[in-house]
This record gives sequence, structure tokens and C-alpha cells, in this order.
Amino acid sequence: MLRRSRSTGEHMAHGYHFFMNPGPTNIPDRILRAMDRGAIDFTAAQFRAISEECFAGLKRVFKTKETILAYAATGHGAWEAALVNLFSPGDKVLVVESGFFSLNWGMRSEAFGLEVETLPNDWRRPADPARLEARLREDREHRIKAVLLVHSETSTGVANPVAALRRAIDAARHPALYLVDTISSLASMDFRMDEWGVDVVVAGSQKGLMLPTGMAFTGISAKALAAAAEAKLPRVYWDWKRLMGEASQAYWNGTAPVHFFYGLQEALRMLEEEGLDDVFARHHRLAEATRRAVRAWRQNDGPEVYALDPGAQSDTITAILVPEGHNADQVRQTCLDKYNLSLGGGLDRLKGRVFRIGHMGDLNEPMVLGTIAAVEMALDLVGVPHGKGGVQAAMEYLEGEGN
Ligand code: PLP
Repeated sequence: MLRRSRSTGEHMAHGYHFFMNPGPTNIPDRILRAMDRGAIDFTAAQFRAISEECFAGLKRVFKTKETILAYAATGHGAWEAALVNLFSPGDKVLVVESGFFSLNWGMRSEAFGLEVETLPNDWRRPADPARLEARLREDREHRIKAVLLVHSETSTGVANPVAALRRAIDAARHPALYLVDTISSLASMDFRMDEWGVDVVVAGSQKGLMLPTGMAFTGISAKALAAAAEAKLPRVYWDWKRLMGEASQAYWNGTAPVHFFYGLQEALRMLEEEGLDDVFARHHRLAEATRRAVRAWRQNDGPEVYALDPGAQSDTITAILVPEGHNADQVRQTCLDKYNLSLGGGLDRLKGRVFRIGHMGDLNEPMVLGTIAAVEMALDLVGVPHGKGGVQAAMEYLEGEGN
């Protein structure tokens, strides 16, 4: 609870800070403790052993036998790395619209002199493979060099069908590269780089991998590496050729982020101890509990899950649309001020319309139930109409079907 001190007038927070943003996520103590160590020489054998263990573990998480490269950067850096390594000025890319993050990646492509076409899509529904196939079939001269997709659209909570969209590219017999942003899905939702034919995977450290913000990754197929050899956009820091080694990355532009590797080593061990399939099942269970709560609130014309298609709701983030005439940011601010609970706000055209609950990373049932309880109280306090019993609906699901 954040209350003002009677003596100093300062805000005082008590108890556990419920950090339920859709990234970054809370960092488990095990990872914090693993990072709480002295620096070592990043050119020495001790660091090489740690980084090789990490790259091997990452390959199991990406489900790939292909190349993975890491950067000291946020996800925006990995977005940019993909663009500058793969394309030449004037190349055309097709952005599959899903929300703020898809359009943002497209906007960055434009900044590098690429021609960007957007495949328009309703933000509340997943991308339609048939529409992608039809658009690619029309592109007889193969001007489209790549399809850019966000797997879990963090601004809307919609999950896109990565494998089905790959099949659409194949059905159109189109040679475009397939680039997928997994920043809010990797290590939380099933993702299979090789099986799903993804050429470049963009990922970040601060969500499913449970690390601080500041490390980013790209998974790169042999086809993408071949395209990079021909691409003309200038690059130095992001240059894949400079960074690559044989089995794992051989070079860092500057000092390697050693402490991130300490944390990553521990994160990968945690994921493997739990087992990736169980990690995904836990995320699904906690996401579904959240959605059941919102369904209870939906009574009395209350808030609703923004993502409409039950088969395409992200298991890492739920965006909750408040009824017309109400301000989602007020709900969010009340949660923070009164209950020390941090939620995500609406982005771009969804500002003030949705608040977002992140349910990813190191999370359990009581954390989700506590969040739902606080949000339900905030809805009351702010005067947003809603049905009662969100916590009860979530509990019943977790004890029953979701047990
Ligand atoms: N893509 C998606 C889907 C995201 O959710 C985010 C951040 O939340 C980004 C890209 C940008 O990543 P970063 O903030 O690490 O630069």
C-alpha cells in the first residue's frame, strides 16, 4: 500500500511490490543472487564456458539448431539488427499488423530506407493466414523480401499463429524471409524456430527469461545468413558477420555483459528444471485464470478481454478494455497508489482504453489472485461498472480445470 506518512508527507510503500507489467517482469531471487558476483575477464576461459552453456541453452529454448547471437541492447536493438543485416535500401518488407509493436517495427524499417507495406488487421483478432497467402500470391515479382510478425502482441494480448502463417508463405510459393518478434512469448509460450520455419527470431531478456532489461537476441537461419551476405545497409555494432563464431558467438563489440550471462545461466537452469512444457502450461493456467476473472467483471457491462478470439489470446499478457466513458489509466493509478500493484497502460490508440496485466515469468497462483483482487477493488473505487466475483472465478478455475 502506498500511503502518505503523517509525519513527513512522503509516500510510503509497504509489503511486496506486485510488479505485474507485461515486461519487464519481476526477477526471481535465484537470478538476482546469481548476478550478485564480481566481474571476471570476458576473454578468459571461465567466461567462455558460461557463455557456451548459455548459447546451448538458448538453442533449446528457441528450438533451433541454427545461429543465435546476443547483444547488449533492448529488444529495439535486436529489431534493428535484423533490419540492417538483412536488407538493402529500397527493399520491401510486409508488416503483418497486430498492434503498436508491429507498427513500430515497421516504422523503424522505413527509417532505414526500406519500403514498408502493412497487411492491415483488426487489433482484436489474430492475423489471417489466407489474407497473407493472397497478398503474397499477388506479389508475382517477389518484391517483398520479408514478412515481419509479432508473435505475442504485447499491446493487445493477441497471439498470432506463427506456424499457420508460415504455411501461408509456403502455399503462396513465396521466397520471403520470415521474421518473428518473440519478445513477449519466448520462454513463456510454445515457440519452435526450426519446425515453424522462422528465419529470424527477435527476443529480449526481460520477459520470459526473467532477467533485467538490456540484453537482446536474434536466432538466425542459414537462409537469413545468406541474405545478410548480400545485404547493403551499413552496420557495425549489429553486424552478424563480426559477431559470429563457430558453435557460439565469438566477438563482442566492446565488453561482454558478463553479469547478464550469470543471470542467463541461472534462468536457463530454472527453465530446464521446471521443463519448458510445464513452464508453458503454468503460463496458460495463470493467463486463463486472469481471463476468467475478467469474464466475471464483464457482467453489468463491465470491462472485457481486448483479444476477442479465445484461441488467440496471449498467455503472457491480458489487455483489459474498460467500458466507454471510463479511463483505464485511473484504474491503473489506483492500483499503484493504494495497493502497490503495477500494471501496464494502453499504448498508442489504446491509451486510456485498456490496462494490461502481465502474467509472465516467475509467477504463481497467489500473485495472480492478489492482482485480480486489487484490480477488482480499484474498479469499485474508480466507479467502473463491473460484475463481482473475479477472484472467485479465478480460484474455481485454478482448483478445478486449471489444477
Ligand atoms: N516487441 C514487443 C512485442 C515488445 O513487447 C517490446 C517491449 O515490450 C518490444 C518489441 C521492444 O522491446 P524493448 O523494450 O526491450 O526494446
